[in-house]
Parts: sequence; C-alpha cells; structure tokens
Amino acid sequence: MKPSRILIVEDEESLRTALRDNLEVEGFVVETAADGGKARNLLRRSSYDLILLDWMLPILNGPDLLRELRGRGDQTPVLMLTVRNEVPDRVLGLELGADDFLSKPFALQELLARVHALLRRGKINEEPPDTPSLFLRGTIEVDLAAYRLRGSSEVPLSPKEAHILEALHRRRGQVVTRDQILDRVWGPGFYIGPRTIDTHILNLRKKLMSAGASANLLETVHGVGYRLAPEEP
Ligand code: CA
Repeated sequence: MKPSRILIVEDEESLRTALRDNLEVEGFVVETAADGGKARNLLRRSSYDLILLDWMLPILNGPDLLRELRGRGDQTPVLMLTVRNEVPDRVLGLELGADDFLSKPFALQELLARVHALLRRGKINEEPPDTPSLFLRGTIEVDLAAYRLRGSSEVPLSPKEAHILEALHRRRGQVVTRDQILDRVWGPGFYIGPRTIDTHILNLRKKLMSAGASANLLETVHGVGYRLAPEEP
C-alpha cells in the first residue's frame, strides 16, 4: 500500500520539526511549509492525503488558505491546530471546511490518533456510496455522489454534511443520538466535541431551508440528538 502523504503547515520551527519526525517514524511521507504562502505553492502543484494546518501563520493565515482550498473544490482532510479558547474560530473553521481541530499544546498520541482516524475516514469517503441519492421528503434529494442537495434550488454539501443526512435518513422518524452520528460519520473511537455536530446540524438546517425544505424537517431532540421527520401525511 502506498504511504499516505501529509503536509504540515506550521511556522513554529520546533513543533514543525517534531511533527515531521514523528509522522515519518509512523511511515508517512511528509512535506512541510513554514508559512501560508509556501503551503499555497505546494498545494498548487501537489496533492496530499491530509493537511495539518496551523491557524496563525505568516503571509497567509490558515483559515484563508483553507477557504481557498475548499473554494476550488479540494476536499483534502484538514486537521487545524489552534490555541485554546478559540471557540468562535472553531466554528468559523468548521464553516470553512476543516475536518477536525486540535488545541495546542497537545500530546503526540492524541495527534496520531486523529491523523489515523482522518486518513481512515478519507478512504471510506472515497468509496462510492451504496445508493447514489436519497429523498428526505417530497422532492428534497441528497445526491451522495455529487454532494448536492436538490429541491426548489440546488445547494452544495460538504462530504460530512451529506454523510450526516445519510445517517439520519437511515433511521428516519427515529431519534439518532450524537454518538451514533459520530460513529457513523466520523468513525468509531474518533473524538470530537458535541458542539462540532451541533454546528454541522446548524449549517445543514440552513442549507435544507435554502433548498426549499420546511424548517421542521430536521428536528432537535433536546439532550438526546436529532431526528429526520417522517413523511408528512
Ligand atoms: Ca502559528
């Protein structure tokens, strides 16, 4: 099997070097960039299986680089490295399309666990879906191959948003807990906070309404999880 390629974008030299050495020991092929400009150049001529992206960077910030990447349809998994207490930034990062966050300082084992989980998930997402599309209600369609939501208008979905809708649709009419969504979409043993799922649901609800779905299609069951409302009588 070909080793996974990882790009580390981090301006702090000691951290960049330590990350590179440890990931190389794990058998990954690693490239590094010390600023956002250099990372942008590398990303234009090369592709990676995963990007470790620092938030604050010289020349071009992590969020701006991520926005550029997603803006041209590049769905490479991104693990953002942030400083603690950056909660609003975390929400912004998710909206921009980051896949996971790790607060500095972090334990190496924690980083490695997330790297492996993201790479595993990347491989799962490359597999073609069982059904190319599903209908949520009436004419609201989720295209799982193209990651689009179609109704009275068409709205793009992130792969994760599409997989969350698939998980809810699989058990439509029933409550799906956050843990069940986490297991199905992020993979077993993968830790993200409950707020991350809430943020994705919030974005999904906006997109559903943009596509013409009614506001009550995706229900919150407080303290438990979410439910995709059954077909209206
Ligand atoms: Ca930095």
